[in-house]
Amino acid sequence: MALLLCCSVPAHAAWSHSITFLGLSDATLPYEHRLSSTIGSALDLWTRHLAGGAAVEIEVTLTDSIERAMAHSITSGYVRDEGPRQVYEQGLAYEIRTGADPTGSAPDLRILLNGDYLRDELWFDPEPALRTTPVKAEKTDAISVFAHELGHALAFNGWCDDSPAGRRLDYGSTWDLNTAHDGSFLYFVGARAMSLYGGPVPVTVGNNRHIGNAAGAGADLAADLMNGLTFDRGTRYDVSALDLAMLADMGVALAPVPEPQTALMLLAGLACVGRIRRARRQCSAA
Ligand SMILES: [Zn+2]
Repeated sequence: MALLLCCSVPAHAAWSHSITFLGLSDATLPYEHRLSSTIGSALDLWTRHLAGGAAVEIEVTLTDSIERAMAHSITSGYVRDEGPRQVYEQGLAYEIRTGADPTGSAPDLRILLNGDYLRDELWFDPEPALRTTPVKAEKTDAISVFAHELGHALAFNGWCDDSPAGRRLDYGSTWDLNTAHDGSFLYFVGARAMSLYGGPVPVTVGNNRHIGNAAGAGADLAADLMNGLTFDRGTRYDVSALDLAMLADMGVALAPVPEPQTALMLLAGLACVGRIRRARRQCSAA
């Protein structure tokens, strides 16, 4: 077991994370540092858009029990009663919302990762914070994979299956409460997501807690980070505006987006700082 502590970039100083590895072998140990930086960058793809902050404790377990990768919050947190149902959110979302860590010093979320998948399929960006190097055409981008899995640990998870009968549980996750069956298909019906998408968002048929389909309703979402179909090799995926709207519908608060005027002032301010720094460097170099 190895423990690696990392901090996110200063712009998101309220966020920090730690990663614990379990099950590393001689074959997978060389990937430890690449995994750490990659998972940190994948987490940042989400947290850069979120309000508040949290110390996110991540456990990565190398295992043959799954084919590729998956992740989930270790526990869930109570949100509210809604009619006859009790609503729970993923433990990580609970910690972000309340500031209380439901798992204490134990991990908040667990990533399961197949060692062969890691070695044979994943491509590790040499500059994960930049994400500008072309993804190898015959490999799957690791940051995209972990960002997808972290989406599940944040909110894209639940207990109800995608059949009408599966909706009758007396408890549900924030995902479950935001999905509705029309008799044929399941849709995500959170207000923000519907407003952005222009109607109910099609959940992947046969793969609940994902969006998009290969054909028909939701075919336009097949390339979304949280699609339930496949990740194309040689392709980089990112958190979409729709993913964020869905996250907000599920109770994870988004960071306020600066008004255009404010953003322009910030940019102007940064440009001034840049000029001052350049001037100082020129002075000191002279
Ligand atoms: Zn998934």
